[in-house]
Amino acid sequence: MSPHHHPSEDILTGYSAGALEPGFGLVVAAHVEVCAHCRARIGAFEAISGAALKALPRADVGENALANVMARLDAPVEPVAARDVRPFIERLPLKPKKWIAPGVWVAGVDTPRAPTDRVYLLSVASGGLTARHDHSGVEFCTVLSGAYRDELGVFAAGDFAAAENELNHQPIVEGDETCVCLFATEGRLKPQGLLGRIAFAYANV
Ligand SMILES: [Zn+2]
Repeated sequence: MSPHHHPSEDILTGYSAGALEPGFGLVVAAHVEVCAHCRARIGAFEAISGAALKALPRADVGENALANVMARLDAPVEPVAARDVRPFIERLPLKPKKWIAPGVWVAGVDTPRAPTDRVYLLSVASGGLTARHDHSGVEFCTVLSGAYRDELGVFAAGDFAAAENELNHQPIVEGDETCVCLFATEGRLKPQGLLGRIAFAYANV
């Protein structure tokens, strides 16, 4: 998988510094896991911040520091958990699916988040409707399977999209495959129409 749409430099810097809200970081993580290009960009940021740290004056070290480090080396090593190799979607702590229209379901993701944020999966079958909506807050999206098209182009599995401010769009599913996307949105998103309001309400359960 080789995504074509990537997070901006600001978003990726915030992600690698751990500065994003957890739900938003999760959406970026879904992209980074399948994007060698962005993993290389993150590696470059970390090399730069590592070099910056080395350039700082050395801190004074207490006289017990060496003994403390040696004691830690002697401590039993915690076993490292085996890496979970299931697909990203299967590792998400999903709440129950809610069908909101023919071919369309939404499931909240049980992850730490700011009270006004929503983190959820939206699955839309080929030919299914999506909700036209406005943005006055920020919305991050990573496509987990299938593809959609909107005014900005086609977004396929692995692609990342960030929407904010006056974007008003109605994505449509591209191709025959069901499109599943992971979203994090700030509470100020303004869904339009009944479907949009239902999806947004369910995303918060
Ligand atoms: Zn990328």
